[in-house]
Amino acid sequence: MARVALVTGGTRGIGEAICTKLKLKGYNVIANYGGNDQAAEAFTERCGIPAIKFDVADFAQVKAAVNQIENDYGTIDVLVNNAGITRDGTMHRMDYEQWHKVIETNLSSCFNTCRAVIEGMRERGFGRIVNIGSINGQAGQYGQVNYAAAKSGIHGFTKALAQENANKGITVNAVAPGYVDTDMVRAVPADVLEKIIAKIPVGRLGKPEDIARTVEFLVSDNADFITGSTMSINGGQHMY
Ligand code: NDP
Repeated sequence: MARVALVTGGTRGIGEAICTKLKLKGYNVIANYGGNDQAAEAFTERCGIPAIKFDVADFAQVKAAVNQIENDYGTIDVLVNNAGITRDGTMHRMDYEQWHKVIETNLSSCFNTCRAVIEGMRERGFGRIVNIGSINGQAGQYGQVNYAAAKSGIHGFTKALAQENANKGITVNAVAPGYVDTDMVRAVPADVLEKIIAKIPVGRLGKPEDIARTVEFLVSDNADFITGSTMSINGGQHMY
């Protein structure tokens, strides 16, 4: 039977590329999204993958949604924690809401989803979890204390969870993309983006497919000896 994969934030950008790659490889894929119904409907129309709305930052919503998904599609074998947001601003101008929202959506979300699936994965002796970090969690970034803290937290979270579950057939890895051509990066002012691209040794932004290919490998049987690692996919911008 096809393995069931849940990809949070799966309806746009990197998440969409991960969903379509996993579907192509035979997984039964379910995408999650946060609020953009129009984008979600267009996504399902494009690729035929169901999209389910729930807020990854809300523990109760995640628990209920995972229960529903497991009833409707079967137990979740593969979890990709991809949903993420930015609310940029320098520390001296950042308000509590910007801090809290980014930490909850980008980091606490990983607790919420993993907590909902981990017991089942342990009982079944199989699981694949991939958490999407960021180059800015590795290197820091001006105007992003909230985002850098959340993404950096993902890397520690990944290693601890990997240690706890390595003997249960569960791998937990992180992927740290550099700048990838999605809505999130298109929101960066053009002059700033130009300066960023100038610092990428391969001379271009990443494509969502660059990230999806690695995620697909990490959740495959071929990667069963890889756990607790972080794959940096950034065109050589930060060699970590
Ligand atoms: P996009 O902004 O293109 O898409 C974000 C996705 O996350 C959407 O599906 C969105 O749903 C969903 N989402 C946002 N908030 C929530 C929420 N509270 N609950 C559920 N879903 C939510 O992002 P990218 O594709 O650019 O980024 C994907 C991941 O990769 C993020 O974690 C990001 O931090 C990380 N990353 C991205 C980089 C880049 O250069 N693009 C670089 C490094 C890391 P909706 O459509 O409903 O809003």
